Amino acid sequence: MNLEAVREMAVRERLYPSVILHGADEAARRAAALDLARLLLCARPGDDPEAVCPHCRRLGWPGDGDAFHPDFQVLERDLKTATSVEATRHFLRGAQVAPFEARGQVFVVAAAESLSGEASNALLKSLEEPHLTAPRHFFLLAPSQFDLLPTLRSRSLAVYLGGAGDADEARIEELALRLAVALAEYRASGSAADLFAAAAVLGEAGGWDDPRAGRPWSLAAAAVRRAADAPDTGPGRPLLALAEALLAAPQLRLRGISAPRILEGLVFRHLAARAAVS
Ligand SMILES: [Zn+2]
Repeated sequence: MNLEAVREMAVRERLYPSVILHGADEAARRAAALDLARLLLCARPGDDPEAVCPHCRRLGWPGDGDAFHPDFQVLERDLKTATSVEATRHFLRGAQVAPFEARGQVFVVAAAESLSGEASNALLKSLEEPHLTAPRHFFLLAPSQFDLLPTLRSRSLAVYLGGAGDADEARIEELALRLAVALAEYRASGSAADLFAAAAVLGEAGGWDDPRAGRPWSLAAAAVRRAADAPDTGPGRPLLALAEALLAAPQLRLRGISAPRILEGLVFRHLAARAAVS
């Protein structure tokens, strides 16, 4: 099922009560949830999109400006690596009451992949209860539908938003270019400061807060591999070895070493002496 088909179902008020929005990147998943919420809660669906109704005007991601709508609730991950059962129960309490203003309610689980087992079960119970007076919609956002428990998947419509490819591709290209610049400067200067700068470029792959996350490491590794292809970067082999080491680095991260320390350590180990003699 793709997003266009799901928008169509929302407009016709035929949408499943629980929808998994997975794939793409976090920003795209959030944008899709907001887009569907507008279709579900708008007072004049199908009208001139310029004539914004009082509901649409106030629908926004919490913390993003001052937009607030009482019938649009978002559950964010509250712990470092999980969405707790306490936060989930608190969030689900809102689903026990009728809508405040709109013709329905929308509940968004922003990082459904991080739901604890207990939190997943609490959510499951809410999905199984019929709504009281008005349509009630749950959107579960996750990188992959397979990040969710099978019991949640079986009660939800999974909507794939596409590969993360495009957004990542631009990011990798940008990081690779800046890495190549830092390494060229290092070759000219031999100064450790330029290697620190190279490690800092890799740090901008971002998303390091979750120690279990593999994605920032694979982004950084892809940028290093790309830089190895650049004509001006010097010998490729140390860079390829660095890329390999980055892919294995989540294990170091799980041992409690911070991401910047790991990046600096690996960059120096693989690029310091060798880059200097090249
Ligand atoms: Zn509207």
